[in-house]
Amino acid sequence: KILKVNLTDQTTDVMPLDEDMARQFVGGRGLGARLLWDLVGPAVDPLSTDNVLIFANGPMTSSGYQTSGRYSVSTKSPQTGTILDCNSGGSFGMRFKNSGYDAVIVTGQAKTPVYLDISPEGVQFKDAHHLWGKTVSQTTEALAEKNHNVLCIGPAGENLVRFAAIMNDKYRALARGGPGAVMGSKRLKAIVVSGDLKQEIPNPELMRFIRYESGKMLKANPVTSQGLPEFGTAVLVNIMNTMGIFPTRNYQQSQFEEADAISGETITDTILVKNTACWACPIACARYTKTEKAEGEGPEYETVWALGASCGISDLIAVTEANYLCNDLGMDTISAGATIACAMELTEKGFLDSNLRFGQADLLAPTLTDIAYRRDLGNELAEGSARLARKCGAPELSMTVKGLEMPAYDPRGLQGQGLLYATSNRGACHMRGNMIGAEVLGLPKLIDRFQYRGKAGFVILNQHVSAVIDSMVLCKFINNAVSDEYLARALTASTGVEYSTGDIHRVGERIWNLERLYNLREGFTRADDTLPRRLLEEPVKGGPAAGWVVHLEPMLEEYYRARGWDKNGVPTPATLKRLGLDNL
Ligand code: SF4
Repeated sequence: KILKVNLTDQTTDVMPLDEDMARQFVGGRGLGARLLWDLVGPAVDPLSTDNVLIFANGPMTSSGYQTSGRYSVSTKSPQTGTILDCNSGGSFGMRFKNSGYDAVIVTGQAKTPVYLDISPEGVQFKDAHHLWGKTVSQTTEALAEKNHNVLCIGPAGENLVRFAAIMNDKYRALARGGPGAVMGSKRLKAIVVSGDLKQEIPNPELMRFIRYESGKMLKANPVTSQGLPEFGTAVLVNIMNTMGIFPTRNYQQSQFEEADAISGETITDTILVKNTACWACPIACARYTKTEKAEGEGPEYETVWALGASCGISDLIAVTEANYLCNDLGMDTISAGATIACAMELTEKGFLDSNLRFGQADLLAPTLTDIAYRRDLGNELAEGSARLARKCGAPELSMTVKGLEMPAYDPRGLQGQGLLYATSNRGACHMRGNMIGAEVLGLPKLIDRFQYRGKAGFVILNQHVSAVIDSMVLCKFINNAVSDEYLARALTASTGVEYSTGDIHRVGERIWNLERLYNLREGFTRADDTLPRRLLEEPVKGGPAAGWVVHLEPMLEEYYRARGWDKNGVPTPATLKRLGLDNL
């Protein structure tokens, strides 16, 4: 069932989950996109009272299947203006499901700060005056009780930083695109969930079998049984750097001479205390670390890149403490680091008057704090790098797609990844399908990373698989080991609806096209399916990818054709009919 919460008049309503909608869009990201289509149109400012936050779990959440403790949020992004969804681990998702709801739709705007207490007994609106201004750890500790889970925003969300995150279980983030700012605009400080309602599994025997088989595959796969548990996601630092695709100093170089200092291997040797894991996850890729001054979870690969190599910084302690700070202030580490890197280049090239320079580790913490509280230059950086660079008269120095900062893989040495970034519907993102598996790691098979003709089909399939995994609300790392066929059977077991591999790919395609329709309705066009000029025109200067730019146009032509979209990137009527979207 779906809980509707109106913050303006503090009323609630419960409605049944539409079974047909659930079958077509599954849950999480897909369900969020379908609901958002009806609820938030193009006239709505993302930071206005009319935007909504849709928190959703999925049919497998809390089933005990590997990585099934996650949940997602969908909204219109205040950073990009596109449709947005993010999902997060920890154990909040499991408890959210056990409170009795498949989704919670938050509408309106509270007059004064509030938090929500959701349990099987109902919903309570509670005064949050005493929490407003508090950090994520302070808020979580103030609200934490046994068998309760907390999500909240920090000062960045309250101050409407456009890349503010929503944090759950203290360290886990709904990070990208600014959902924390939407929550801040609603004066909603936190949500506490509790409950231990057990989930009915329609086919428990099949679920037991698939769980057992999936466990065997996860153990047998070197990425999920060794690479991720032993070194965390930062195991990728040395791999990407060696291949010449580790963007450095705001993408000016593609190799970082001091990469090893911020690598997963160095983290394990120096600051790692223990591995941690999200609920029901045997992979345990997360790291609990400690410096002399602080401790917490992180840093992940994207974070050591954004706050490290991207800013020309190799001081692992400074990067790790900057990561803790982002978590506590409630900010996306990728956009925060990449925006600082952009400001560093703007300054060095004379477009911005600031003291930021590449390599200045001591400025990381004060700059991040200024961003979260919108002080001085921090107020400009809080708008994200696209708005900052445009204001400085050098928009080409913002490494963004559709306004979202690029992650840690230089697509000039990964052509498919370039197409993926350009067409991603929430802006540049490695979580909307990922070509690293095929173009770098050889999963499921190695393909030529420099080849650009014939790449569109791979990218499209990856985008569909990512959309359906996000809608089952599982962790994408599971798909390194567990094939789509097994995921389809797991979905069958947990819904009682028969899904084949082709069926789940079609669900992914339906979601992708719906998100595309949403962005088109917002005014996005083919011109937005592009990359920063640097990646299209400036060849990589050295290393294994030397001489390469992204050959986007031929890939885009192929991509539109293969998708059944016209030359402007608009789904044709036949495509929409095939996907059951022709009534929208
Ligand atoms: S692989 Fe890592 S991020 Fe994914 S569910 Fe497990 S611990 Fe969480």
